[in-house]
Amino acid sequence: MTRSPQNSLTAQGPARPNHVGGWSRVALRAGLTTAKLSRRTGLGGGSIIGGRVTMALDPGALRRLARGRRVVLVSGTNGKTTTSHMVAAALRTLGPVAHNTAGSNMADGAIAALAEDLDASWAVLEVDELHLARIAEQVDPFAMVLLNLTRDQLDRAAEVRATATAIERAVRAHPNATVVANANDPMVVWAATSARHPVWAGAGSAWRGDTLGCPRCARQLPVGPHPWTCECGLTQPTPSWRIDTGTEIAHGPGVSVHLATAMPGQVNLGNALMALAVSVHAGVPADTAATHIAALERVAGRYARIRHGRHTVRLLLAKNPAGWSATMSMLDDPTRPVVVAVNAREADGRDTSWLWDVELEHLAGRPVAACGERAADLGVRLSYAEVPHRTSTDPLAALADMPDGEVDLVANYTAFHAVLRRLDADRSGGGI
Ligand SMILES: [Zn+2]
Repeated sequence: MTRSPQNSLTAQGPARPNHVGGWSRVALRAGLTTAKLSRRTGLGGGSIIGGRVTMALDPGALRRLARGRRVVLVSGTNGKTTTSHMVAAALRTLGPVAHNTAGSNMADGAIAALAEDLDASWAVLEVDELHLARIAEQVDPFAMVLLNLTRDQLDRAAEVRATATAIERAVRAHPNATVVANANDPMVVWAATSARHPVWAGAGSAWRGDTLGCPRCARQLPVGPHPWTCECGLTQPTPSWRIDTGTEIAHGPGVSVHLATAMPGQVNLGNALMALAVSVHAGVPADTAATHIAALERVAGRYARIRHGRHTVRLLLAKNPAGWSATMSMLDDPTRPVVVAVNAREADGRDTSWLWDVELEHLAGRPVAACGERAADLGVRLSYAEVPHRTSTDPLAALADMPDGEVDLVANYTAFHAVLRRLDADRSGGGI
């Protein structure tokens, strides 16, 4: 099978994307106008509602908007937003890049991102795991980046192997796409096995709680420092991209480059490695890609340090056991107060049972507050973990009661954005 035209790297560089016309243009304008109105009236960022209007008027909008572009899809349970920002930063050195920067990662968000940047030859789209197959079918991706697969939003995503099966179908359906996949994650390896052009990266996997059994045959998988392997034949691939965490030197085919990240934790070094691998594959020189990846200090508010009254708040997002496992390693000061905020809205998943798989026992010894709309659930979990805490639905009220100085605020999805909006509003109102 030959590569489709938009997937071919040419000496002339990427083709200009096709522009839409006729009814599609009307649908596009309606979506953009709606998005603008949404922003002006303060209802939200506008990308979701704008994309939905365009999609309702023109169901083929995404396919048309993606035509003629090279599209990189970034998917997985954790790290999509951070990694997609890293990839976009590197690819911008090749030309304009359309990117769903705010993390609207379903078809409506993809449409909005492409509609707002019609001239961009490249697109980097963060994509929800359950929507990868449908979006890939529309955009014929140049590359797919598969970060990790663990349980998340249990009421929506059901079971992680079902998600992996859906991604495997997407991989199989796009044999021309390069699949940059995390070799350390058994679920990702299983999903990417059918890739014709796999690029394996040793991006790490701190959380193995969802792959104690082999995703293919359900036999027990060994957990340890050595490469994993199963009697059925599913084995950790030898990565062509890896990073020496001591020296922060990343190695790839013909490449050795210093790769650092301003964002904390081993998990972000893994995200950076995945971003580097796909960026180099796209034609960005390795040192250029590494420089632009390293320059990112925060992404969509994550890892931001915000001064608020007597406190400096470091904002961290953690929304499932795997995300919390990575976050625990970032809580490096054992005496620093921690405010934890948990909601259970549709975007978070209504089911909060995942809290029982998070090792909140590690928070013992610090001042801790249980907050968010599900503060009571969190408080019960902390009580069983024998972590003294106070409970308040309002994270900023809890913050006010914390000792002066640095405070870590860890929140899940909607709780995080609610706190970020309030801190930003306080700052712009001169409250800080
Ligand atoms: Zn097996």
